Amino acid sequence: MGSTWTMIQMQRLKELNAATEQLNLSFPDTASRDRAFQITEHHLVEEAKSKLGKLREEKRRPSILELEERLAEVLREQGFVQVCTPTIISKTALQKMTIGEDHPLFSQVFWLDEKRCLRPMLAPNLYSLWRELIRIWSKPIRIFEIGTCYRKESQGAQHLNEFTMLNLTELGTPLEERQQRLEEMAEWVMNASGIDDYNLLTESSVVYGDTVDVMKGEVELGSGAMGPHFLDEQWGIFDPWVGIGFGLERLLMIREGTQNVQSLARSLTYLDGVRLNIK
Ligand code: ATP
Ligand code: MG
Repeated sequence: MGSTWTMIQMQRLKELNAATEQLNLSFPDTASRDRAFQITEHHLVEEAKSKLGKLREEKRRPSILELEERLAEVLREQGFVQVCTPTIISKTALQKMTIGEDHPLFSQVFWLDEKRCLRPMLAPNLYSLWRELIRIWSKPIRIFEIGTCYRKESQGAQHLNEFTMLNLTELGTPLEERQQRLEEMAEWVMNASGIDDYNLLTESSVVYGDTVDVMKGEVELGSGAMGPHFLDEQWGIFDPWVGIGFGLERLLMIREGTQNVQSLARSLTYLDGVRLNIK
């Protein structure tokens, strides 16, 4: 039986973003494995340095910010208005989403005090804006936000405590066009993110209505919903609508073929996907 990487070697190779094939290598003996480790690590560190060099000399900002701007540009071109709402929201707003104490998301909420928390999603603010805008603008009302959301997660490879959400919404979609509209929205976002080959998983639930998840293999990239929805009345909304939310770090993780979202997130140990403990 051959030798595989030690746990420490494996960890180091992972943080340096080694490809799956490199991680899965095996060797005739430990001496040849350790030699291979030195060579591989050296290559990966050189690659990391050159990526950081490119960041400094050319890109001048991480891919997550480039993606955010690209998406915003594409969606504005499609006639959607970008909005910017508070990251601190009220307990009442959460309750209006029926996220009460027995809801699974409730225990994931970061509370600031008894009445305020950091938003775990963008939907409550977008509902509030819809409610104001229906008095002022004709339908359909097309708005989107890209901003940080916060959830206490058991930090796996796909979950962050703070992540960048895009929520794209249209209020006043003709009933029979909702599914098609959601599919169109998913396509714009996937194209702008440079991801092809994704799947749409449509499910009907009595409680949540029809939902459409955007999947790449086993990874959920986005979740769409449509109304009329049982929550609408609480928000004073009575028109049909569609809305879809994506995590930008996940989009980037898939596009870049990275093993986890941590390296692409807000971080002090990574810069633009590059682990900083290199020299
Ligand atoms: P999951 O089932 O993967 O935990 P979710 O269904 O709870 O995700 P949604 O509430 O549907 O997530 O949020 C919309 C999108 O936001 C997700 O499809 C995903 O891309 C992203 N997202 C949600 N939670 C996180 C997180 N903790 N870290 C990074 N991205 C996230
Ligand atoms: Mg979801």
